[in-house]
Amino acid sequence: MLYDFHTHTTLSDGVLSPMELIRDCIVNGYSALGITDHTGAGTIGRTIREVRRDCELAAKYWGFEAYPGVELTHVPATSISELAAQALAAGAALVVVHGQTPVEPVEPGTNLAAVSCPDVDILAHPGELTEEEARLAAQHGVFLEITAKNGHCLSNGRVARLALAAGAKLILSSDTHEPSQILTEEFARRVAVGAGLEGKDVTDVLVTNAEELLAKIRRPCDQCRGAAGEDTEARGLTAGKEHPPSPPSGAMGDKLANGRQTTHVVLPSPELSLRGRGAGGEAAVAVVGGRLSEESCNEARGIFDTRGPAREPRPHPHRLRPGR
Ligand SMILES: [Zn+2]
Ligand SMILES: [Zn+2]
Repeated sequence: MLYDFHTHTTLSDGVLSPMELIRDCIVNGYSALGITDHTGAGTIGRTIREVRRDCELAAKYWGFEAYPGVELTHVPATSISELAAQALAAGAALVVVHGQTPVEPVEPGTNLAAVSCPDVDILAHPGELTEEEARLAAQHGVFLEITAKNGHCLSNGRVARLALAAGAKLILSSDTHEPSQILTEEFARRVAVGAGLEGKDVTDVLVTNAEELLAKIRRPCDQCRGAAGEDTEARGLTAGKEHPPSPPSGAMGDKLANGRQTTHVVLPSPELSLRGRGAGGEAAVAVVGGRLSEESCNEARGIFDTRGPAREPRPHPHRLRPGR
């Protein structure tokens, strides 16, 4: 099992095209890959669009799971939640934030903004992490990164120690910019151990946490949700942060956002409420991470409850994974 959810291509400052990166990762034995090029506000849409096409190609012909994401990089700290929502709305499967590292002058406040935003999946190389930020990362389900990348890795020990103490989940990534930086299982393990992790903590960072994140980013979009019955149970409340390219029928998106800037809709799946997992409404509240009002969530629940039992499975072209 080898996972890596933070890598770069020629769409930012990497040297491999997305397709080259995917192929090299397959050769190295990767189980799944996240492609997260540096973006600001202007490049989110095209980055996701372009990478997604290659991810779909790899899924279709090689059965390989690669996901398009972004690494919000050197953006104003106070813009992070807005840009993370923008990335999800653009179809990003994965939102990484370039953390405050010892080797680059990222704006102070970036780590805090990232761990405070439930739309963020990974805070990358957060070398200047504080105890409070680690606690917030645990609270909001933001993974803290142990990095294999030169320079950024100087603070791995600090990040590991604070994350473990706070109960925040760690994830290990390569931050690959060139072929030599692509992980192997052996090297990933060495980096984890080098960060001071031992025993179960090594397995957690390399496998358990990575698979948890993978389950989260496999979330289908709204158009696909009807076909998602088989894994809804497993996804549970982490099925949040769905990212429909366009609002489902009824255009709940803007209406539910109640004037906030959220453009993606987050609702419990029909299966979730039908199975009586403690009310679709609760799920809705949980998955939106407080960005929508309770009133909106009640409205969401109403809409879902009137949808009735699970619909007939239908093709789900937006899914990246083949054969499901
Ligand atoms: Zn870079
Ligand atoms: Zn990076």
